[in-house]
Amino acid sequence: AAKAAGKRTYRVFSPDLEQRMREKLRLEMKLRHALDEKTGLFLFYQPIIDVRTRQVTAQEGLIRWHHPKRGWISPAEFIPTAEESGLIDEIGTWVLHRACADAVTWENRARVAVNVSARQLGNGTLAPNVLSALVASGLSPDRLEIEVTESALLHDELDCLADLRRIRDLGVRVALDDFGTGFSSLAHLRAFPFDKIKIDGSFVRDAVTRPECAAIVGVVADLGRRLGVTTVAEGVETQDHLDLVISEGCTEVQGYLLGRPAPRAQDLAAVARLDAGGAGLRQSA
Ligand code: C2E
Ligand code: MG
Ligand code: MG
Ligand code: MG
Repeated sequence: AAKAAGKRTYRVFSPDLEQRMREKLRLEMKLRHALDEKTGLFLFYQPIIDVRTRQVTAQEGLIRWHHPKRGWISPAEFIPTAEESGLIDEIGTWVLHRACADAVTWENRARVAVNVSARQLGNGTLAPNVLSALVASGLSPDRLEIEVTESALLHDELDCLADLRRIRDLGVRVALDDFGTGFSSLAHLRAFPFDKIKIDGSFVRDAVTRPECAAIVGVVADLGRRLGVTTVAEGVETQDHLDLVISEGCTEVQGYLLGRPAPRAQDLAAVARLDAGGAGLRQSA
């Protein structure tokens, strides 16, 4: 379209772009509303299991949003919008407080894992937020784990690492999420003493049919062992996946085979009601 408009005119603001921006603004407003009214936002939990003891070592909090018209929307879609609009700060605080308050009630005393995104890192707010969630809930710091992806460390890496160091000084554990999918994975392991490496589910799922993916899983597991770090295989969906990641030496596993992300008991009724309303699946991968 830009070309058709003439050699020297560049239509940067195409109708298509305008449409997309309007759509995003609408999404933002609905999210803002959900956050203000505390409706339609949930934290689901998925178990992470020790291969040897078969105990649940941690539960990862995964945010879920039921949009009034569109139904369940994946965090992969709305977290980026929340990051761009700045809503992520409030969402992140809500998730942290909810996760810590929930974990205090768990009888198995599993840890709780909380995802933080790029915008929550590197501006000095993470440690105060974590501390306030710990204090408000009374959760012991060693039962909280913060998951950061490699891509979250892409910008202002030194500031991000400083924030991670502060929470680690509080006694909170730090996990490197989606390992292997970002840039300079090994450099990240050198730059920070992560407590846990989570091998991205894409390697795990491909490992059964592609020996090179199995090799990558195995090498990362070896690396974890030598570093004295837990290695979690994400995205374990079948018995074949499970057998393979165990034989490659992963120490913990997570995936649909072992347990899907599920709502808290207190949210079951509300979630069932929204599910019954249709417009989408409860499970978003
Ligand atoms: P993640 O932290 O890497 O989480 C793992 C994702 O894989 C989750 O998707 C989970 O539901 C999905 N999953 C778990 N087991 C399986 C499996 O066996 N097979 C497949 N195909 N998928 C599996 P989800 O819940 O849609 O979340 C996507 C991403 O959104 C997360 O990736 C995380 O980066 C982000 N996210 C989720 N909750 C939060 C949150 O509270 N705050 C922030 N900042 N980000 C969040
Ligand atoms: Mg995660
Ligand atoms: Mg992951
Ligand atoms: Mg991910």
